[in-house]
Amino acid sequence: MTSPTGKRVLLAAPRGYCAGVDRAVIAVEKALEHYGAPVYVRKEIVHNKYVVESLSDKGAVFVEETDEVPEGARVVFSAHGVSPAVHEAAAQRNLQTIDATCPLVTKVHKEAVRFAADDYDILLIGHEGHEEVEGTAGEAPDHVQIVNSPDDAANVTVRDPEKVVWISQTTLSVDETMETVDRLRERFPTLQNPPSDDICYATQNRQVAVKKLAPECELVIVVGSANSSNSVRLVEVALGAGADASYRIDRAQEMDESWLDGVTTVGVTSGASVPEILVNDVLAYLAERGYGEVQEVRTATEDLMFSLPKELRADLKAAGNAPARPRRENRTSLSVEPV
Ligand code: SF4
Repeated sequence: MTSPTGKRVLLAAPRGYCAGVDRAVIAVEKALEHYGAPVYVRKEIVHNKYVVESLSDKGAVFVEETDEVPEGARVVFSAHGVSPAVHEAAAQRNLQTIDATCPLVTKVHKEAVRFAADDYDILLIGHEGHEEVEGTAGEAPDHVQIVNSPDDAANVTVRDPEKVVWISQTTLSVDETMETVDRLRERFPTLQNPPSDDICYATQNRQVAVKKLAPECELVIVVGSANSSNSVRLVEVALGAGADASYRIDRAQEMDESWLDGVTTVGVTSGASVPEILVNDVLAYLAERGYGEVQEVRTATEDLMFSLPKELRADLKAAGNAPARPRRENRTSLSVEPV
């Protein structure tokens, strides 16, 4: 039903959990159920405060490095992936590892290894210091240079301009990445593309959905944590696509009443590491303020699922506890009209 005030919410779809996050979170939950607490997790399993706090409450212990994990204990590697050096450090401490690296990140690692073996200079477009970039660069440290932004393309030096390839972090802005590639190609005309898209399907789908709704919105709210690359990119994409304002929040309590001044249409989306409960809280907050009409703007349907990490799968199977793993519902519990 249309609101008499015209106030409404456009709710992006797809939004929220991707297949890699779903798998990583379930891996920690299953590990806790099967082995019992504590289960150590190197770095945040996914970049979302709520998820990390929920898993901590169940007995997961988050550490920064493997040397904080007791010798011989069990540790889960996060969805962002780790470098070979981290695997080696874990082996030296006899840690029992469960590798929850997203298979789409692993794919980029393999590209780095392959191009390094062919002695290419590899230009890794991504954010220096991000865990995923550290992990990918660590596969071939002698061949990889990190390119942070389009402007950074000017700083790249290579050994042989005829033998250069670019690869990328999985959670970047598609448009900004292509701008960086264009600038690199101006300098290295034969720059080779990666064999397939490195920016993953989930990142791309969430950006396409927010691009579609943003031109109709005075405000776009992105639910996601500050260290979630794909969530931060969604704010940039919303603004670039025509939203008057866009804010990223971890949860509904961070909403500011003043953001709604003069606003008729609010866009809502969430990053790939955000559980739907946090989006529902934002929708409830908005409904209380007159934005009870919610229209879904769907640009794609996702049904990808990844099986659990092989180490965990094997232990669950040996215990006669093979995991049936339905994908989590990612729909709002409020009434939503498709548009
Ligand atoms: S955002 Fe993409 S690469 Fe990252 S965990 Fe999700 S599916 Fe994997």
